[in-house]
Amino acid sequence: MADKIYDYVIVGAGFSGLHLADHLKNHRNKEVLVLEKSRGVGGRMATRRDGEFTFDHGAQVIENDELMNSSIKRWSDKGLLRPISSDHFSAIGGMTKLAKELAAQLNIELERKVNKISWLDNKWLIEDDQTHSWFAHQVIVTAPVPQILELLERSSIKYPKDLQQIHYAKALVFITKGESSIGESAYREISNSSIFSVSSQKLKGTSSSPCQVVVMGPEWSNTYFDESDEVIMKLGREVLKKELPELLVDDLQLKKWRYAFPLNVYHQDFLALENGLYLAGDGFSESRLNGALKSAKSLMSTLVLC
Ligand SMILES: Cc1cc2nc3c(=O)[nH]c(=O)nc-3n(C[C@H](O)[C@H](O)[C@H](O)COP(=O)(O)OP(=O)(O)OC[C@H]3O[C@@H](n4cnc5c(N)ncnc54)[C@H](O)[C@@H]3O)c2cc1C
Repeated sequence: MADKIYDYVIVGAGFSGLHLADHLKNHRNKEVLVLEKSRGVGGRMATRRDGEFTFDHGAQVIENDELMNSSIKRWSDKGLLRPISSDHFSAIGGMTKLAKELAAQLNIELERKVNKISWLDNKWLIEDDQTHSWFAHQVIVTAPVPQILELLERSSIKYPKDLQQIHYAKALVFITKGESSIGESAYREISNSSIFSVSSQKLKGTSSSPCQVVVMGPEWSNTYFDESDEVIMKLGREVLKKELPELLVDDLQLKKWRYAFPLNVYHQDFLALENGLYLAGDGFSESRLNGALKSAKSLMSTLVLC
């Protein structure tokens, strides 16, 4: 068991967790450790490489707004963004490049799934599902709300029961490789369709070789999520041929997100529980990266006052 006590342990290296860690370390001079269960940073900002193809299989684009403006400027100055409309940007080389830029100066341990947190002798003990453990004065958990609740239940930590009312849409995502004439726009959302969005990874600047990503809508995704991959691909091919006939669907890949977008959100941008334990992320604010950032920034401004 480590005897070092961090000022903050942040659970989750998604957009909200990385923003919080960046702020607390670089602007508040705090000792911060980020624990992430996956092999890489970014959470739902996720990019996969497959030979000559690179594709974002989570978040596709960033919308500029008042809160996002400083991030847009930071990444633009580093040549990481490409404008794709008057108020939307894509990440050159993929969304994880942005997460990696945020993570570069941070203390992050990957492949650490936090399993339990306990208040012990005036500090938090954080344990993963192996044998690792850490101490911190304060803990911020930024996972999707249902995963936060699993952690709190395992840790026997009380929380407001209305958190159980926050539900997420699932997302089934199809990747197609090769040239397809899906139009001139890098990214478009489709209304009144089983499809939520379609994007050209080449026009977005994600991939040098042509490939496309189709995010299926919440209704279609929820209906077929628990079918086998084989069945989902077969049904996917059928629906894509009908609704996007110009798309080549011979070489299809599938990515599944159990918690893609919050369907409803908590009535506060973050939640402070007992003894410096905080909950944040898009489930507390708004769907999308903008919501994750809003939650992180609201929590930051409260921590400044503590
Ligand atoms: C298919 C898809 C398309 C999308 N498209 C867009 C888009 O175009 N534009 C947009 O703005 N938004 C989009 N979004 C939504 C956007 O990606 C999310 O709103 C945002 O990334 C949420 O950030 P977050 O930090 O709140 O959560 P996350 O990114 O989910 O980060 C939480 C992190 O916590 C980690 N974690 C969870 N439990 C534990 C644990 N016990 N221990 C350690 N680590 C843990 C997870 O691995 C994850 O890395 C899309 C999402 C999906 C799935």
